[in-house]
Amino acid sequence: MERIEHNRSIRSILEEVEEGTLSSLAAKSGQSRGRLKPEEECDLRPAFQHDRDRILHSKAFRRLKHKSQVFLSPTGDHYRTRLTHTLEVAQIARTMAKSLRLNEDLTEAIALAHDLGHTPFGHAGESVLNRIVEGGFRHNEQSLRVVDILEGLNLTFEVRDGILKHSKGQGNILDDDPKVMASTLEGRLVRVADIIAYICHDIDDAIRAGVLTEDDLPLRYGNLVGRTHSSRIGSMVRDLIATTREMDDGELHLTPEMTEAMVGLRKFLYGKVYGNPSIKRDFDRARKVLASLFVAVIEEPERPEFAPSLTLSGENRGTEAAVDFIAGMTDRYALDLYDKLFLPRPWAVL
Ligand code: MG
Repeated sequence: MERIEHNRSIRSILEEVEEGTLSSLAAKSGQSRGRLKPEEECDLRPAFQHDRDRILHSKAFRRLKHKSQVFLSPTGDHYRTRLTHTLEVAQIARTMAKSLRLNEDLTEAIALAHDLGHTPFGHAGESVLNRIVEGGFRHNEQSLRVVDILEGLNLTFEVRDGILKHSKGQGNILDDDPKVMASTLEGRLVRVADIIAYICHDIDDAIRAGVLTEDDLPLRYGNLVGRTHSSRIGSMVRDLIATTREMDDGELHLTPEMTEAMVGLRKFLYGKVYGNPSIKRDFDRARKVLASLFVAVIEEPERPEFAPSLTLSGENRGTEAAVDFIAGMTDRYALDLYDKLFLPRPWAVL
């Protein structure tokens, strides 16, 4: 084994390995634009690896387990949750990062944190907060607030920037506007990986739920991306890697055909799955639950049922505290609290 130089930290040796092995376009840990507040770096882990670990150990990360993706509080064990979605995004993004010799640690850190600010009940939750809160609510901004303020993780600029810029709603997959896109290629990869992951797993879950069959998928896209979950992910991932390598201009690329297929499949999901009457009915119910909880929190924040999760100290008061509280809830926490606040108790016989 190579002798480790005793006067150097393992971190600085690993930073040198990055410099020697990663693409010139990759973000290097040793050249990070720094943390929110300066601190002494770890002796073992380069900055982005350290960020990844901080995210993994956060409470907000553990709560992803009980937040819905599309199917609300699913009783079936095989449906995606916000946690498994996050892990699938991280896997897809890392495969692409490794193939393009980009920084896997940075990619994984952004992917694991990208949805930490997501509300319970998936996009139903996001839309209700967006309507009620002055100035609107966007989960990517809340994700940044979670890591910066609520969890105080003191992450690097590159991870924070990737978290903030991952979201696109129904916007372009790869946008030309530099203000919309992350400043690192790793951050941009997570944006694409997020879309690949949800298109593919929402199709898979919708088929599992009986909302779709394989034959309902538009044939022209099926011919391009394949007819199985695995081939759909594989063809999108390979398209990005091959096209980016071919163009070799320092940007990420997809072929026009694959872009059209991904946009088309996303549109198809919006119509057929998210617009499905029984899924919409559940979304409407979830919206009502969260709207009622929000009003209750605003009207009577001192209620004992809200302690200790509702923090009313310091600058974090009023609407902002209510938003942090509601957005941080898991589906089951929200349903339990709704039950406690609004449903009649059975009369106890003494
Ligand atoms: Mg996501």
